[in-house]
Amino acid sequence: MGDDEARLIRADALQDEARTETLARARELGAEAARLRMEVLGPKPYPVLACSECWQLTGWLGSGERCDVCLASAQREAAFADPHGSFLNLEDEAPNDERPKAPAWKRWATRLGIRGPLDREREAAWNQRVDPDSTGPPRPEDGFVIFDASRGEWPAPEGDDLLVRFATLAYRFERDCWQRIIAAGGPTPLTPHAFPASLPMEQLAEAWSDYVGEVQAYNAASWAGEADAREAVRQQAKARAEAQEEQSGTSKLLD
Ligand SMILES: [Zn+2]
Repeated sequence: MGDDEARLIRADALQDEARTETLARARELGAEAARLRMEVLGPKPYPVLACSECWQLTGWLGSGERCDVCLASAQREAAFADPHGSFLNLEDEAPNDERPKAPAWKRWATRLGIRGPLDREREAAWNQRVDPDSTGPPRPEDGFVIFDASRGEWPAPEGDDLLVRFATLAYRFERDCWQRIIAAGGPTPLTPHAFPASLPMEQLAEAWSDYVGEVQAYNAASWAGEADAREAVRQQAKARAEAQEEQSGTSKLLD
């Protein structure tokens, strides 16, 4: 296990421990967890701060030194608790289920059995999210799931700041295109996911590049594991086929 990995595991353990501690002790443990995470991230040209509630790293803090996620969730709870409260700022996180109908030329090509242009289009769609052989299979595969970073601008949960926020979304390859899905697991980048939009562009660009790099590293590691597992299955099947061949050869000798 690398030093960084050990630090991150320790940080998570400290936070678990904090759950059952007094407030003062919990803050100490949380701050230590955040310090370990900052150490792993290393010095950055963009702001790296720690939320005083979830102790995750962020590029923006609001009142009570809380991150946008904690503030938004506190606001939602307050809105639910208020019998007259009608303010709910729920973000539209629902996956896009719309499946546009294939254009006419595609339907005709399918009917006539002309695969060439369809295959090229399928491959182009695949390559939009997969770096073949590095973050996924070399050829398009229906059902393959990958994580991809996205970014956008949202108003901060309080105050007048506009935030640039990064998120990780899951996609499954289906019918020659990527469908957004809700998937468990996935990468949890250490790079902060929220920054004031007023930061210099170079800082935002560097943060985005770090964030995307972490998502890609996650995809590459999970594909490396999957590729090894597939290769092991292939080798087993090959050995089995060879053994069967040998045995059938033996029985022929009896004739
Ligand atoms: Zn937080």
